[in-house]
Amino acid sequence: MIEEEPIRMQEYHVIIIGGGPAGLTAGLYAARAHLSTVLLEAMIPSGQAYMAERIENYPGFPDGISGRELVERFVRQATTSGLEIRQFNKVESVARAGKTIIIEAGGGQFSTAALIIASGAQANTLGIPGEDIYTGKGISYCATCDGAFFKNQEVAVVGGGDTALEDALYLSRLAHKVYVIHRRDELRAQKILQQRALENPAIEVIWNTVIIEIKGTEMVKTVVIENKEGGIKRELSINGVFIAVGQRPNTDFVRGIVSLDEQGYIITDAECATSVPGIFAAGDVRKKGLRQIATAVGDGALAAAAAERYIALKT
Ligand code: NAP
Repeated sequence: MIEEEPIRMQEYHVIIIGGGPAGLTAGLYAARAHLSTVLLEAMIPSGQAYMAERIENYPGFPDGISGRELVERFVRQATTSGLEIRQFNKVESVARAGKTIIIEAGGGQFSTAALIIASGAQANTLGIPGEDIYTGKGISYCATCDGAFFKNQEVAVVGGGDTALEDALYLSRLAHKVYVIHRRDELRAQKILQQRALENPAIEVIWNTVIIEIKGTEMVKTVVIENKEGGIKRELSINGVFIAVGQRPNTDFVRGIVSLDEQGYIITDAECATSVPGIFAAGDVRKKGLRQIATAVGDGALAAAAAERYIALKT
């Protein structure tokens, strides 16, 4: 756990919450606009991109780049341009006081003219028996973090999206066998990932199937799976379960402040402005059609430019 820094009320032109590609790009643009800018990040600057083993669809890197290296480059570029990054266990609240926005984090307060929320999203859980008990004991939500524990073993990945197939492909280089358990007969992931997974001899997709229980002793031993077509249940011996069934946005701290959609994503206009003047949102936390690093950095730039215009009009 990161030690919280003792803080007093501090004023900035721009405050950014979240240190993934969207927040770091917003920080780069705001700092280069000579706005005093701090980025508040819950952990080491990262975001989900940091966990990606290899990123192949971010332009400019024809041979791919690890998520860690890409994010570290974002951090270096933003901080060299003057962005300040501070780490806190948690941002507790956001409130408006007249034209100023007050943020409480780590027991202290910050005030700002413009806030950019780039707090991203986190992995969904399945909510099935055994999931709580065996999380960290064979159940993981991050293949690149925990895959190495399953060398030459048998694992299952749940889900049919980009994350599930990237996880399965990554795990296929470590584990002896990777089952992809998907609830439909069609995958949601990009076609290129589908092709690679379906051609990989270590990966077997179990179609139209859900896990209804995860069982074990000290560690996961089996999953009970149910075929959705015939209702047939069986138990599959497994050492690890990687759950990749989508994400939910990190927006609890702004619930009731800015407008959210039914899933909790922040509703913005095309310039990343939320329903509250002076509050902008960028990246995966925003309601949008495509959640990728390429769109996150675009949002970050747009949000910072919109924040700059808002501050100029206000003063
Ligand atoms: P996602 O696209 O929402 O896919 C979630 C998958 O989990 C879907 O296949 C869904 O099934 C399944 N699922 C959801 N709830 C389930 C449940 N309760 N039980 C069983 N299965 C369930 O999530 P994601 O793969 O994490 O991707 C999130 C976003 O990040 C996407 O926009 C994705 O494109 C992006 N992303 C991009 C890259 C990349 O470009 N390299 C990598 C990772 C993620 P259904 O298909 O039946 O709905």
